Amino acid sequence: MKNLVLIFLEGAYTNLKRILFASDRVTDMEVRNMILEGRVTPTEKVAKASCIGCGGCKNVCPTEAIEMVDLDEPVELMEGLVKTQLPVLHSEKCVTCYYCHDFCPIYALFGEAGTIHPNDVGEVDLDISELMEKPVKISEDKIAYISQFLADSTIIRKRKD
Ligand code: SF4
Ligand code: SF4
Repeated sequence: MKNLVLIFLEGAYTNLKRILFASDRVTDMEVRNMILEGRVTPTEKVAKASCIGCGGCKNVCPTEAIEMVDLDEPVELMEGLVKTQLPVLHSEKCVTCYYCHDFCPIYALFGEAGTIHPNDVGEVDLDISELMEKPVKISEDKIAYISQFLADSTIIRKRKD
């Protein structure tokens, strides 16, 4: 019983820290505020062109609301990086925790609009090769944390090279 109370308190404390102090988050606060205040135009839930198909969003989703589906034709995004799958978000299972947005490496690494979100962040039209040339805007420890959830960590390795 005592252990259960401790677990509950620890969970409540972690969640409060996350909400109040933005700890354990990588999404830019301005983007989060735009999403929360409904200042983004809902379009597609997954920006198919910019998504690299890494599966990070699926792996981090606590409710299994995201399914990775095979593409008819694999797409070579750049040398050594081939996209074979895209995520499909099942809204009925989504609890709008924003983890998928926080952990998407396209957003997280480059500090720009993400490629997937339950309410979307608007149209994202990006050239992946150009994106990869941009400087990383987050710390090494956050990159390491995010990379745990990526099925294909090629993008992280490439940034380190
Ligand atoms: S916002 Fe929805 S889809 Fe994204 S991680 Fe949370 S529950 Fe899953
Ligand atoms: S985490 Fe981002 S880039 Fe990776 S599969 Fe999900 S939407 Fe695509």
